[in-house]
Parts: sequence; structure tokens; C-alpha cells
Amino acid sequence: MKLVIGYLYPSVMSQYGDRGNVITIVQRCASRGIDVEIDSIEIGDRVDPDRVDLLLVGGGADSHQRLVYEDLLTVKGASIRRAVAEGSAAFAVCAGYQLLGHFYKTADGDELRGLGVFDAHTIHRAAQTGTRLDTITKAGSVRAVGNLIVRWGLHVLVGFENHGGRTYLHDGSTPLGTIVLGGGNNSEDGQEGCVVGNAIGTYMHGPAFPKNPILADHLIKAALSKRYGTVHLAPLDDGKENSAHDRALQQATARPRWWRQWLGSGVG
Ligand code: GLN
Repeated sequence: MKLVIGYLYPSVMSQYGDRGNVITIVQRCASRGIDVEIDSIEIGDRVDPDRVDLLLVGGGADSHQRLVYEDLLTVKGASIRRAVAEGSAAFAVCAGYQLLGHFYKTADGDELRGLGVFDAHTIHRAAQTGTRLDTITKAGSVRAVGNLIVRWGLHVLVGFENHGGRTYLHDGSTPLGTIVLGGGNNSEDGQEGCVVGNAIGTYMHGPAFPKNPILADHLIKAALSKRYGTVHLAPLDDGKENSAHDRALQQATARPRWWRQWLGSGVG
């Protein structure tokens, strides 16, 4: 089997280790004898919706989003929408997640139009409150920064978030999960991320996949299903991944083991 990754804006959009998601997919596929091809898709490059099985995009500052949003709309938009509609998988983190919604209003109040893959919109907290980000303290006061713990069905995902944007899902949209710890979409409604078909948007940096192998495998299966139908992935020895997950949970919660067991770390 072969999996083609479409890696969007690798030289512009990657923060807090997001690049590690690409490496994780490659490693987990290689361990199962699945070939992986990575298309680095930069500004000006087109997306081939018949070729890409998994789209990956990372985070970035408002200035990075300004750099790419027009290209995303005009050069790649229709192909990405078609790819997702036809079952390609996608994992979009933070700034990438925001630009796959309807729009992102920056801290300065500029509205960057998005692709509308996710039925959601995002407004920077500074634009909501009219806060001028002229001091570090003010800049920090409007950001959701820190460990992020998300309940995803029977599982618990761990990551790191750092964003000023507040994302609001529109009626009928499906969140990725519910917040156990952290801000998530908007620090108000207890939801995190968004899911459309095989496309996932999230605020989980970290990178997310190494500490959440079950999420990585979910995306691999979804990506392969477009070409091969339902696939079964051979289990891997995730000892290191699981202890990294549990350690992150422990650090994030600094709660005793019984609390974590109650929470059900659920990586298996
Ligand atoms: N610039 C966006 C925000 O502040 C996204 C940040 C990010 O990707 N980490 O919300």
C-alpha cells in the first residue's frame, strides 16, 4: 500500500513541533511496510485531489496566515474542498485549522477569508475585546497557552495549545472532542476541534501524533481507505508513545495516579 501526504506550507506553517506529525505518519507507515510519498506544497503550488490521501498543515502566527491565506483560497481552495469531499483525510492544526474555517479575524481586526471546509469561524480575542497588544502582558492575556487534554470518544488526547483565536462551530458542526483541561476552541463551550468526513481540525500542537498514536493511526486508516477501502493496521509496540502520553497527562494534571486512572488514560 502507498499513502501520499500533501504537506501544506512546510516552510511557513509549522509551530510547536507540528512537523513531527509528518515524521510520525512516515514512521508508523514504514513500520507496517506502507510506502509514503510526501508532496511539499508551498505557496503557488497546486494540490492534486486525486493524488493526496492525507493533507497536513501546521500552525503559524497571524503574519504567517496573512502570507498564505490568499494562495490557499485562490490556488488550492477548490482542490482541497474536493479532496475532503471525496474522502481524503486531513489534520489541520491551529492556524491551519482556522484557515480551513470560514474566516479568521486577526488580532488587528483583519478578516482573512478561509476555505469553509469546517463550518466554523475564528476571531482573535484581542479583536473581540479591542485589546491593543502593545505589551507582552497584554499579548499573553488574550492567548490560550498551555497543556490541552481532550476527551475523544473513549480516548484521552494530550497536546499543547498557544493561540489568540477563538473558534466557534456553527450549528450542526461536530467537535473533535470535549475539553478536560485547557481552552480548546474558545475557552467557553468546552469543545475542541472540528471533524468533517476524514478531516480533523484541532488546537493540539506538541506535535500531537507522537503522544497520541491512536489518533495518528485513525488518520492513517482514514487516508488509506480512500484508495484501498477499509484497511486493518498491524498493531505496533507503542510503549514509548504510551508512556510519553501518560507522562504528559501527569504533568498537565499533576494529579495522583488514581485521578488519571479515573480519567482513563485510554491510549489502548
Ligand atoms: N495566529 C493564530 C492565533 O493566534 C494561530 C496561532 C497558532 O497557530 N499557534 O490564534
